[in-house]
Amino acid sequence: TRPTTHWETSVGARAFCGFQDCFSRLRSMDPVRIAVVGAGVVGLSTAMCVSKLVPRCSITVISDKFSPDTTSDVAAGMLIPHVYPNTPIPTLKQWFRETFDHLFAIANSAEAEDAGVHLVSGWQIFQSIPAEEVPFWADVVLGFRKMTKAELKKFPQHVFGHAFTTLKCESPAYLPWLEKRLKGSGVLILTRRIGDLWELHPSFDVVVNCSGLGSRQLAQDSEMFPVRGQVLNVRAPWVKHFIRDGSGLTYIYPGTSNVILGGTRQQGDWNLSPDAEISRGIFSRCCALEPSLQGACDIREKVGLRPFRPAGVRLQTEFLAQDGRRLPVVHHYGHGSGGISVHWGTALEAARLVSECVQAPRTPTPKSNL
Ligand SMILES: Cc1cc2nc3c(=O)[nH]c(=O)nc-3n(C[C@H](O)[C@H](O)[C@H](O)COP(=O)(O)OP(=O)(O)OC[C@H]3O[C@@H](n4cnc5c(N)ncnc54)[C@H](O)[C@@H]3O)c2cc1C
Repeated sequence: TRPTTHWETSVGARAFCGFQDCFSRLRSMDPVRIAVVGAGVVGLSTAMCVSKLVPRCSITVISDKFSPDTTSDVAAGMLIPHVYPNTPIPTLKQWFRETFDHLFAIANSAEAEDAGVHLVSGWQIFQSIPAEEVPFWADVVLGFRKMTKAELKKFPQHVFGHAFTTLKCESPAYLPWLEKRLKGSGVLILTRRIGDLWELHPSFDVVVNCSGLGSRQLAQDSEMFPVRGQVLNVRAPWVKHFIRDGSGLTYIYPGTSNVILGGTRQQGDWNLSPDAEISRGIFSRCCALEPSLQGACDIREKVGLRPFRPAGVRLQTEFLAQDGRRLPVVHHYGHGSGGISVHWGTALEAARLVSECVQAPRTPTPKSNL
């Protein structure tokens, strides 16, 4: 288990008695104090982008859970973007491209294994020809093409498919890797549950809210709800190609040591316990696509709650105010089913919003309307 980071050890404060006593008040030449709430893929990547984009700041990541206990750790980690209803396709494509480029560089470096990022090739298959034969992300992934008749022979129930190479980003390795790099660049990491973002005033000058589903409470965003996902983590080292049914409901994603079999999308279901009947269904659907999986062993069930927001990712600055004092909060949450695929692109955008807050901290900005 992770040792709780105490303020007295990390910043030399007297005794731990809440945020108020931890830091001296902002002086004009002091670095800007930035708190990032959340340590899933969104929080850690945001902290990293802020550290690169915002000069002279001190960053603290505060979260009640860290890897391997976040939703991000359950993700299959495939870079295949999901459409968000209110996000224009060019914006979504930019987020995906920035994420792909960032991870591609890692996959091409000596860090690839530690970071859990690697290329993977395979097929996305359809039982009828999709409305969009060539998806908007086709020129971001590598070697995108329609499947040949010979390839389709492997899937007798399917009539059409895409073949391409994309990236797989395995959070149980990627999150600790990010955390290590953050610590190495002086970022403080604190295990703590936040009940209300205003708790962070006046200890911090800017707060970035990357609390995923926690934003239901922290941002009073009642539109946030879980989309439950159950997957199986199995050993089947002979499976080298990914296979994804076009609906996105059945998938086989080989990784560095295991293969992830999925899945489910259960809206509004908060149950984190695996359901044996669902597991049997996943296994039989995946075996129908890849019969050799009958020989898979070490089957482990995992459940995660996707942080879903009907309007899509919220990237927005809000100014909390009490008694004439105010606290800029950059909201960055609501990545639903596709957070791994776009995290670096949205983190860069969040870091730009933080940079605006730092440059013009006293400029009045209208309150957000959720
Ligand atoms: C089964 C499954 C498969 C998936 N597969 C893919 C995939 O292949 N590709 C893809 O792109 N995406 C995939 N996803 C989606 C992806 O996992 C999410 O979009 C992404 O992980 C969201 O990241 P996040 O950091 O916003 O949330 P989280 O990982 O949930 O992180 C939220 C953080 O906030 C902290 N927090 C919350 N409330 C508080 C509080 N009050 N105080 C302090 N800390 C708080 C939490 O402890 C946590 O650290 C999948 C998801 C599931 C469940």
